[in-house]
Amino acid sequence: MQQHSVAVVTGSTSGIGLGIARSLAAHGHHLVLNGLSTPLEADALCAALAQEFGIETAYSGADLSHADGVAGLIDTAQARFGRIDVLVNNAGIQFTAPVHEFPVERWDAILALNLSAAFHAIRRALPGMLERGHGRIVNIASVHGLVGSVHKAAYVAAKHGLVGLGKVVALETAGSGVTCNTVCPGWVLTPLVEKQIAERAAMEGIPYAQASGELLEEKQPSKQFVTPEQLGELVAFLASPAAAQLTGQAIAVDGAWTAR
Ligand code: NAD
Repeated sequence: MQQHSVAVVTGSTSGIGLGIARSLAAHGHHLVLNGLSTPLEADALCAALAQEFGIETAYSGADLSHADGVAGLIDTAQARFGRIDVLVNNAGIQFTAPVHEFPVERWDAILALNLSAAFHAIRRALPGMLERGHGRIVNIASVHGLVGSVHKAAYVAAKHGLVGLGKVVALETAGSGVTCNTVCPGWVLTPLVEKQIAERAAMEGIPYAQASGELLEEKQPSKQFVTPEQLGELVAFLASPAAAQLTGQAIAVDGAWTAR
């Protein structure tokens, strides 16, 4: 890479986003990190990644559940590096309840972060990409962007929406040097899923390890978790020149969950 590419990864202080940030850093991208961290934790993360990979880092603690927060993140990246080459829309939250008991404020919060934040970020970052004739947009949806599961009305609706948004952006940018794809992971062992396993263990009165095994068994035929590192390397490939014609796709990484 002649000039360092600049990547913005939302929700990159934890879990999948952090795995993606680490892979992009390993492939030489400068990073703009984002997530809900204390300034001390964010400084430590920025310094550690900069030192390990010899890249430059910046951090924005913007709350992406509002359009203004997303604008703040994109503007921070533009101000610090002058451009955005790779935008990864990863930040997301979960809440589970039957649809008729689903709290309205949880619905609104999930739609705002898991779907609308990606729209706001793409809308603001895309003009610069089109001007430079190069850009990579990667949305992190879920298998729940392709299939449903009980008690996840807001999450499934938002993730299906994200897959649809990715297709439209790919069509509108086709041939411009910009690509847009949506990654659909199955179970990944992160704080978001650890909480669901703990809830399951408590509800069934079983040990955490058993609940974790049951969770995999139920949906993911490989019975193995997808890892943040595996997703990071996929995103690094999507950001590479080799993926120039790979656009408009929903890519499942799910141990065959959606194959049956
Ligand atoms: P996580 O809870 O480990 O990380 C979420 C990240 O988002 C953190 O950095 C957090 O600080 C940030 N965040 C939360 N609310 C925010 C807000 N309002 N503004 C800005 N940042 C915010 O979760 P994860 O499992 O790594 O999930 C990352 C993405 O991957 C989510 O979109 C999730 O839906 C998706 N996903 C996860 C799994 C899984 O099994 N873990 C599977 C498929 C898809």
